[in-house]
Amino acid sequence: MPAAQARSTHPLPAARLERRFELPDEAATLAFGKRFARALDAVRALSNPANNERFTGLQVQLTGDLGAGKTTLVRATLRALGHEGRVRSPTYTLVEPYSLETSSGPLDVYHFDLYRFADPAEWADAGFREYFDRGAVCLVEWPQQAGELLGVPDLVFALDIEGEGRVLIARAYSETGKTCLERC
Ligand code: ADP
Ligand code: MG
Repeated sequence: MPAAQARSTHPLPAARLERRFELPDEAATLAFGKRFARALDAVRALSNPANNERFTGLQVQLTGDLGAGKTTLVRATLRALGHEGRVRSPTYTLVEPYSLETSSGPLDVYHFDLYRFADPAEWADAGFREYFDRGAVCLVEWPQQAGELLGVPDLVFALDIEGEGRVLIARAYSETGKTCLERC
């Protein structure tokens, strides 16, 4: 476990929606990733710039121990959004960017793995702040490592190992996150 694991994220408000998903095997995790990608596409397609309902991006924090399935879920989401190449775990680079062409238009996705992130000053230096401010989808593993820098996410996916499978507790903290989670 990283030394700073006790660091906590932003104190979160009450969730607007909480759902529990049983994921008995890896196929179930992949299927959830697919549903999440479709929900994301639908939410983006629904947002209407004419009504000032622009999609302003989405931050998803993925929590859970090593091996809980965070990267597996990110990989499934990226594949379902149309990414055909490899999905590297950004353990050393901290972030891996993806420029995708989805059915709801071009979409930037940033996959963070903050396991080795230690110095909050690095946040601004690395320009991470801007990634969250560009209408992109940010999928963040080990969000605890960034302390309060991340602010309140749209969604938290908490994965737990249960027997041979996994349990996912998903919580939404914004309207966009809620609409998305309702469609999963
Ligand atoms: P993390 O990023 O949380 O450290 P990974 O996604 O790298 O975890 O690894 C998760 C491991 O668990 C992989 O070996 C994957 O095949 C497996 N796995 C993923 N989802 C499930 C599931 N629902 N049930 C059982 N095994 C799973
Ligand atoms: Mg991982």
